[in-house]
Parts: sequence; structure tokens; C-alpha cells
Amino acid sequence: MLNRQGRPTGPGEAGARAVTTFSGNSGLSQDEPLLFEIGRTNVTGVDLEEPKSPGKSRLGKLARRGGIGIPGLSEPEVMRHYVRLSQMNYGIDTGLFPLGSCTMKHNPRLNEKMARLPGFADVHPLQPQSTVQGAIALIGELSRWLQVLTGMPAVAMTPKAGAHGELAGMMAIKAAIAARGEKRSTVLVPESAHGTNPATAALIGYRVVSVPARADGTVDPAEVRARLNADVAAIMLTNPNTCGLFERDVVEIAAAVHEAGAFFYADGANFNAIVGKARPGDLGVDAMHINLHKTFSTPHGGGGPGAGPVVLSEALAPFVPVPYVVADAKGVRLVEHAGEPGAQPFGRMSAFHGQMGMFVRAMSYMLSHGADGMRQASEDAVLSANYVKASLQHVMSLPFGDQPCMHEVLFDDRWLEGTGVTTLDFAKAMIDEGFHPMTVYFPLVVHGAMLIEPTESESKHSLDRFIASLDGLARAAKAGDADRFKSAPHFAPRRRLDETKAAREPKLRWSPQEARKEAAE
Ligand SMILES: *Cc1c(COP(=O)(O)O)cnc(C)c1O
Repeated sequence: MLNRQGRPTGPGEAGARAVTTFSGNSGLSQDEPLLFEIGRTNVTGVDLEEPKSPGKSRLGKLARRGGIGIPGLSEPEVMRHYVRLSQMNYGIDTGLFPLGSCTMKHNPRLNEKMARLPGFADVHPLQPQSTVQGAIALIGELSRWLQVLTGMPAVAMTPKAGAHGELAGMMAIKAAIAARGEKRSTVLVPESAHGTNPATAALIGYRVVSVPARADGTVDPAEVRARLNADVAAIMLTNPNTCGLFERDVVEIAAAVHEAGAFFYADGANFNAIVGKARPGDLGVDAMHINLHKTFSTPHGGGGPGAGPVVLSEALAPFVPVPYVVADAKGVRLVEHAGEPGAQPFGRMSAFHGQMGMFVRAMSYMLSHGADGMRQASEDAVLSANYVKASLQHVMSLPFGDQPCMHEVLFDDRWLEGTGVTTLDFAKAMIDEGFHPMTVYFPLVVHGAMLIEPTESESKHSLDRFIASLDGLARAAKAGDADRFKSAPHFAPRRRLDETKAAREPKLRWSPQEARKEAAE
């Protein structure tokens, strides 16, 4: 039985009576229209005094002629509207969030408390530096931890996301090549790369040459060597890669790249798998972004802005963008302009110093974990993914055979063959089970990819519940229960949406005419 949102109501058990509610709500799950649909323009929730006549209006022809149509609501109505919307949301605080490559780990509340300390939360980027020495020192200290963890001599803290860090790193590479008086115009990118890698290279004018994956999902140094020449500026390699596998020939690849006079850009989005275990600097990396919002647990996915510091090798260090932190006898300061001895900054990535709130959270995460705690987090992340892999490989198929994975496990859709169920259907059915779907159809090297990253912050109990649900769904798909999947999700506030249309033709403006037209359709 479906209510007016197409949501089934009442008990879902076979044989139990399904009920359509009169309110459109499903028990404590409340249906919630738009503010414009529930509000009325002729009422208001605030009691304002009649304004005194302002005398002669200075607005002239700009004075508004009609009402602006802002809906009036009482305070409780406004409160309920937003609380109800928040309850339709799914976040890491609601349940397991297995979105591969995204590292959706728990955001410790301690970090939130630290970020709200007035000395960090209430500073203004234009304050004199002498009044914000503590905040600058924190940026310096976080820089140091990132350098130690990665084994790299320099870091640019200002990039505001992983993709922004990629841009900074690649711009440093471009500047270094220009400083050598060379022109190089191609960048090598393995097939399994995240879309931001080729996009970044293309954005700053490079031609992208793809490197195929081996049968086991990793990059073959011979394939890299075959594409290296004096025109190659860099390779952009993710390690562990997006198939959840460690690129075991990374040192050999780095050596070949350097021999050709090119640079090694590492996509560090998967750093969570190796923190405290391996240092990218030791592997021959020249530049690597770190997604603080993945590896160091700062909120993301609608929960907060990202931060993508990029660590740089000795060769790239002089090109680090301003502003950066230096410490001397007078204290710590942000270098805002070029002109320091030895420095040739390629420019700047953002107006100010970066995402202060995220720096505080990441520093708090690091200090509360310590070196041993961060190493254990990496180990546990890898253990969790291998536990999921071992528990589901009997019902789902592994594209690269039964080899151990790193912090995420990649399945393909061969096991769905003949069931009439697709990867997308399977992902939607996970919503009915109360889970955010895993990453689907990425990486592109695998057909119908399902990439699961449980992270270290899930207990064995919660992993077992997740595994049992996926196991149940997989068996249902194989048993021919395609209906359960084709029309899923059944229990979400909204049913299957046209996601492509929503992305390509987003409707950003509500108008009463459109709403009426849609209601009639
Ligand atoms: C998340 C991610 C990125 C981009 O990072 P953003 O912070 O989302 O810009 C790049 N590469 C990989 C492999 C990723 O997982």
C-alpha cells in the first residue's frame, strides 16, 4: 500500500494488513512539504511594530511594487520543518556509511569541542598576526605532523579540498618544470584513477594519457615506462589505488618517472590505509594531497567544508603557494607575499590561510590518537575491509581474485548476472535496510563496481549487522526476488529519483505555477 509520496505504510510483513494513513505520515516518519507549500503569505510568525513613516522614500523607482511572497509560519512550524528534514537525512551519526573512497569515519565530539574554543572559532582572517599567534602556531604544528607522517619536507595548507590540493600540487609541478626552462605537456593517469585526477591535469593545460591496469588491478611499471618520454610532466597515481589494492611496484614506478625527468603526484585520498605504516616520501612521491576530511576524520559530505593540504618534496618545496607558516625568534607568522630567500611561490590557492576549523579538528584527532593510535586506525581500517570481503565473497564476486585488500573492498556485478538486478538496484535496496549505499560504478575499470569502505570506526557488531543485511539481499537477488530491488527504495522518504536529470537539469527555483503543473502531471 502506498501513500501519496508513494511510500508503503504499515507493517511490511507478508500477510499483515498494510495501512494508508490519512496524514501522509508513516508513524513517526513525517512527510514534509516545502516551506512555500506549507506557509501562507498573508500570515507572519513575528509580531513587528508598524514602521513609522520614513518620510520621503529614497528608493525612487526601485521601491518594491508588490509582495515578495515569503511564506509566513509560526516558530514551531519552522522548527518542525527543519527538524523533520534533518530526520530524512542519513549521516555518519545515523549509521554505517560504506561509501568507498570517501572514508566516512566517525567525527569525534572532542574535535568539535576544540574547534569551538573561542581562540580558534572567533578569530578573523584579517586580524593582526600578533593577536592570533596560537592559531598560526596550530597551523604550523599540524603542518609538522603532516610532514612527519608523510616523510615530506614541505606542505601547502591552504587548498580547501582534495581536488583543490591536486590542483596546487600539479601547479607546483608545472612551476618546477618551467623553472628548469622545460616544456612538458602530458600527464599519465592510470585507468582506475578518480575523475578529479585527469580533470586537474586537463584544467591546467596538460594532455592526459591513460595507463591501463593489469589483470590484478594494479599498475604495471612496464606500461608506465612505455609511455614515459621527455614530454611527460608527471604521473598521477593513487596508492592504495581505487580498487583498494596497494600498488606494490610504486617504488619502481617512481624511479622510472624520475629518470624521465617527470614528477610523481600521488593522490592521497586513501592515506587512511597507510598512516603510520608507510611514508609516501619513502616511496618516491613528489606531491600528495591529504584529505583531512577523510583520513583525519573532519566532517564532510554535507557536514563541513573539506581541507586538502598538499605535501611537497624537496624539489617542489620552493614553489609552495603563499601564505605559509614560518617560525623564527619573533614567533610564528604567515608569509603572505613572495620574497623570502629561496622561495618561488607559484601564487596562492585561496584568499586566506585555509580551513581553520578543520585544522583544529584534524590536530585534535592526531593528538588524541597519538602515533600508535593512528597506526592502529590504519590497521583496523584494513582489517574491517578484509572482514567484509571474507564474509561476502561467497555471495558476491571479486574482480581481481582473492587477494587481500587494503581499507576498502571492491566487488563487481558478475554475481548478479541473470538475476535482472543491477548494481544500482542493489544499492537502492540497501537504503531499505537502513544503510547508505556503497560507492557504485566507480572505479570505472570494473563492471558494475561496488566499492565498500567500512573504516576503522565501526565495531565488529555493526559490521556483522551490515554483512548480514548484504548477505540477505544478495541471496534474495539470486533467489529471483527482483521486485524487491527494481522498485527500491520502498521505505525512504522519497522513492527512486531520476538522479541524472536532477544533476543535469537541477531545478533551483520554486514557483507556484511549476508546482501546480507538476501536481497535475
Ligand atoms: C575524494 C577523492 C578525491 C577528491 O577529494 P575531494 O576532497 O572530494 O575534492 C580525489 N581522489 C580520490 C581517490 C578520492 O577518493
